[in-house]
Formats: sequence, structure tokens, C-alpha cells
Amino acid sequence: MSTTPRILIIGQGLAGTAVAWRLWERGVPFLSVDRDEAVTCSKTAAGLITPVTGMRLKTSWRFEVFYPEALRFYRRVSKQLGLRFFHPRGQVRLFKDDNERTKWPKRLAEAEVAEFVATQSPALDAEVFSQPHEGFQMRHAAWMDTAAYLSASRDFFAQHDLHQKAEVRAEEVVSDEKSVTWCGEAFSHVIWAQGWEAAKHPFFRWVPFQSALGTILTAQADLRGERRIINRGCWVLPMKDGTLRAGSTYEWQFAGPHTPSDAAVAGLEAKLRALVQTPLEILHAQSAVRPIIKGKQALCGTHPAHPRVAFLNGLGSKGTLRAPWLAQHLVAHLLDGAALDTELDLQDDAI
Ligand SMILES: Cc1cc2nc3c(=O)[nH]c(=O)nc-3n(C[C@H](O)[C@H](O)[C@H](O)COP(=O)(O)OP(=O)(O)OC[C@H]3O[C@@H](n4cnc5c(N)ncnc54)[C@H](O)[C@@H]3O)c2cc1C
Repeated sequence: MSTTPRILIIGQGLAGTAVAWRLWERGVPFLSVDRDEAVTCSKTAAGLITPVTGMRLKTSWRFEVFYPEALRFYRRVSKQLGLRFFHPRGQVRLFKDDNERTKWPKRLAEAEVAEFVATQSPALDAEVFSQPHEGFQMRHAAWMDTAAYLSASRDFFAQHDLHQKAEVRAEEVVSDEKSVTWCGEAFSHVIWAQGWEAAKHPFFRWVPFQSALGTILTAQADLRGERRIINRGCWVLPMKDGTLRAGSTYEWQFAGPHTPSDAAVAGLEAKLRALVQTPLEILHAQSAVRPIIKGKQALCGTHPAHPRVAFLNGLGSKGTLRAPWLAQHLVAHLLDGAALDTELDLQDDAI
């Protein structure tokens, strides 16, 4: 390193916050800057960690690498903050039809899937949850209270003069071969971790963002003490205060970052009512945009023409699971010169 490290992190969502904690743990000075808006993608997220996912019931990409890292990371941060925000939680996946149930034994025979499936049957209350095609329970599932984690982290960093509320415009951040300057302060690097809005940043317009608006409903229903996450058509997350969260939608065209279409909200409500059979009252809907990069599970690294300008983005619908590992990977690259995984390297994508 030609310059003593001090890193400017723009964006305090799941990505930027994980970077900040990695730097804190290494004793490297940084400044985290965020607009501190009430509704963002990371604050809206359900924070679910789901090992077996998707239509094909496959193990989530690199789950066996990301999950242990996330678990250790969030436990350490939890201890540092004196706040419990990470909750291992059973998750039940109900089959959507007989076809899915028939195919399941073949999937279960794969060692990488079997590792994340509990041997006991889900044993759900049939009066609460409609379950015409049975299902299975997962091991190593979890949910994280992302809003609590982010606000406690922000307050912690602010107390140490490491966080600032501001909107950073791209042209205010000036960099050369050796350093970065913002508002008269010098840094060794800047890391842009600004979520889907990076698509508008002049340095990153070439990144093939294909972000999706997602909506989550909050509702009131008597789930008779069920605490697990239940999934068929949509997932249901029982909350401590007796409400539940249900989600989520994917809209590839949207009027604004918090403006879901009526059809998407109605479709989600219909799925929820098909799953939960007890009387249900919808309380509200919340929407935000997931940062998705076409054909990528995430991207990180430095800009091909600006070596002091770094990027961490494209966490899609798996920010809770992936941010801790990705943040460590990027920090090791910037500070130790460790090679980046080619599947995740921003520069490989620039070709
Ligand atoms: C409905 C929904 C449900 C989801 N459910 C899950 C789930 O169950 N599990 C899961 O793991 N993930 C889930 N996700 C995905 C998860 O939320 C994302 O992967 C993650 O939040 C992305 O984090 P990020 O830090 O990259 O982006 P963001 O959360 O968008 O953070 C970027 C931050 O940068 C700030 N910012 C941007 N530009 C500037 C600027 N110029 N100056 C200052 N600040 C700036 C923004 O205000 C924001 O705070 C869900 C997302 C949605 C929308």
C-alpha cells in the first residue's frame, strides 16, 4: 500500500455496514456515509436466510461457505452491540403441488440438499396453514432483524465519529492513482455500496443492473403460536408482536422505488390467503428495490480505470446471507492484495 488505509464507504445498507464492521474488526479507519432514509432496501428486507430455495428446490449458491461466515460475523457484531438481531429459525417449505412432492425424494438423495433438511416432519396446524401436498423442514435457516442491526450499527459508528449523514454526489468524490478526496478529507479508497442506485453512477453505468421492486405485507392473524417461517407460494414470518410479514413480489418494471403495482400487491395477498386459513387483516405494504446484476450473484472489486474506486453491489435477494463474506473478500483484496474470485470481480465483467 502506498497510502495509509482510511476508507470512505458510501451507503450503509447490508453491504456497506458489513464492510464497515470488517474494517472496525481490523482496526482500519473509515467513514461510512448514508442518506439515512426511513425506507431502503436493506431496512425493508425480511432478512430471511433459506438454505433450500427456488422452484427447483436447490441449495442456495455457495450456502455452505456463506452461512457459517454470516453466523460467526453476526454473532460477533451482536456481542459488540449488545443486541440480539440474528435469529436461527426453523423454516417449513410446503410443496406447491403433487408434481413437486413426487420429485422431492430425488432432490433429497443429493447430499448437498439432505444436509439442510431436518428428519422430523413439519407437523403444522392444519387449521392454520393449508398444506394439501405436505412438505419438509429446513435446518440452518434464520431471519435477521435488518432494521435493528442497521440502526444499532449506525449509532455505534456515529458514537465513534465513523458515520455521517449525507447525500454523496458522484462528482464530489475525486480520485487519482494514490488517493481519494471527499469534502476536503483524504482517503485511501472509496467503496460505493449504494444498492440499485449505482446504475445511475457515471462510473458504473456499464454494469448490467436489472433490479426488481419487491413488496412485503404486514398482516394480523392468529397463527396459534407458530414461530417457524412457512413457505408455499409466499413465505410467512411470524413476528413477536403477533403480526406476520409475508412476501415477496418481483416487479421488473416499476413507477418508483416504493410504488408497487396494484396487481402485485393483490397477487401477494391472494397467495397469503391461500396459505393462511385463519381470519387475516392486511395492515400495510412496504416496497423497495433489490439491487440485481444480470447473470451475477454479486459483483465487487475496483473500477478498471480508477484503482482507488471500489464497488460492492448486486446482492439481489440474498443480502443478509452474502454481505459478510463479500465484505471480507473485498476488504482482503483492497488491503492485502488478495485475489478476487473471478465470478465476482467487477473488472472481469467490464471486458
Ligand atoms: C421486499 C424485499 C424483501 C427482501 N427479503 C430479503 C430476505 O428475506 N433475505 C435477504 O437476504 N435479502 C432480502 N432482500 C434483499 C436485500 O434487502 C438486499 O440484498 C440488500 O438490502 C442490498 O443491500 P445493499 O446495501 O446493497 O443496498 P441498499 O439496502 O439499497 O443500501 C444502499 C444504501 O446506500 C444509500 N445511498 C445510495 N446512494 C447514496 C448516496 N449517493 N449518498 C448517500 N447514501 C446513498 C441508500 O440510502 C441505502 O441506505 C429483500 C429485498 C426486498 C426489497
